Amino acid sequence: MDRDDDQDLLRAAAGMALEYAVTVDDRPAAPDAAALAGLAVFDEPLPATGAPAEQTLKLLHAAGSPATMASAGAHYFGFVIGATLPAALGASWLASAWDQNAALPAMSPAAARLHEVTRGWLLDVLGLPAGAAVAYVTGATMANAASLAAARDALLGRLGWDAQADGLFGAPAFDVVVGAGAHSTLRKSLGLVGLGRSRVHIVPTDEQGRLRADLLPDLPGPVLVCAQAGEVNTGAFDPFDDIADWLARRPAEAKGWLHVDGAFGLWALADPARRDRLCAGLDRADSWATDGHKWLNVTHDCGIAFVRDPAHLRHTFTAAAGYTPMGDTFDAMHHTPQSSQRARQVEVWAALRTLGRAGVADLVARSCDAATLIADRLRPELTVLNDVVLNQVLLRVDGPDGPDAAATSALIAEIQADGRIWCGGTQWDGAPALRVSVSSWKTGPDDAAFAADVILACAARVRAAA
Ligand SMILES: *Cc1c(COP(=O)(O)O)cnc(C)c1O
Repeated sequence: MDRDDDQDLLRAAAGMALEYAVTVDDRPAAPDAAALAGLAVFDEPLPATGAPAEQTLKLLHAAGSPATMASAGAHYFGFVIGATLPAALGASWLASAWDQNAALPAMSPAAARLHEVTRGWLLDVLGLPAGAAVAYVTGATMANAASLAAARDALLGRLGWDAQADGLFGAPAFDVVVGAGAHSTLRKSLGLVGLGRSRVHIVPTDEQGRLRADLLPDLPGPVLVCAQAGEVNTGAFDPFDDIADWLARRPAEAKGWLHVDGAFGLWALADPARRDRLCAGLDRADSWATDGHKWLNVTHDCGIAFVRDPAHLRHTFTAAAGYTPMGDTFDAMHHTPQSSQRARQVEVWAALRTLGRAGVADLVARSCDAATLIADRLRPELTVLNDVVLNQVLLRVDGPDGPDAAATSALIAEIQADGRIWCGGTQWDGAPALRVSVSSWKTGPDDAAFAADVILACAARVRAAA
């Protein structure tokens, strides 16, 4: 291949990506049956000899693009999945062309500088302590795991145990406290760092899924408390001030570590109105986890861990044995579970620089306003189960005798079959519920009204068929 051929190939690829990006809202929110059947072209044996690159990329676009979920568009309301800001998508193209290994500044000066710049900007826009470390990982699951590993080592260190050197067998015990509404992956992260998915004290939650601080258990020793900003069904926030006060009141030897899983909810800190309403005490934690790929709308995969005292991350993740003093550069491989790593900060930088402080606040507020609009439009027909404080709406069909599980399940199936929007189901209070998440920068009031109309039309069809 010569340079001209390379250029032609990459220009063709860029053209296909561009075509996808600008037409995503013309696509159904979920692929139709023909598109799914088209995936069969991928089921070929490994070619004995290579195929032309351009033909390969064309096949990818022809069969792969139609079989994607249009989660990068305005009409996808499933799970909590962000779309992609054009600035982030463009930056990701450039970052892919750079193909930097962000493990060490020596491997990428550009990545190292953008890490330091985004560290400052993220702490600024979220109002977190200025000295905290920022570590980029694959998602909130790993951001939780990285934070919890640092917490584990810090708490065991205070008990005179070096978990990095000696592992967990025979280590002194400490207690782990989680709310009953903790995300399923928080428990997975606890299991991953050896603290156990089930060896936890589960604190009951209120009707919105908020941890009941008045029911925090009476425990003698140090504790690791895992709180949550943004319950995955309701968007509810735990009472951080009450939890931090409870920790502060404990005797010195029984204090602990407060971690907050804010995979999407942490971004409420960027919106002054929601910061005041939901986030009191959130900045008193020792560590926080969030996602860039959800509400900041950068591409997958981008998770972000914040740890108040950077020395804890360095102690846990340094690749040399034992504690190494902080140098004046940030070595990503010595502060994250990874060694080699993509420069995720490039897209975060592009998103934050393009949006600015006001733009991030507006992104959050617009999503929340769209969620409120959807809830208001649906309320006469469907039961809105949550206080819509954020970007999540939780809905159910109720009959004369209470929850109509069959009708709710039928409504979810009808919406997914309709295909103009996509949202998923969940279990709430022991019954099926429909979950609507507004996490795309593209979803404005018209899109919210459209989504509500589709849901109402589907509900009417379900009622007519019953
Ligand atoms: C999505 C989510 C996670 C997991 O995040 P990933 O980016 O998928 O790893 C954890 N906690 C909460 C509250 C979430 O919403």
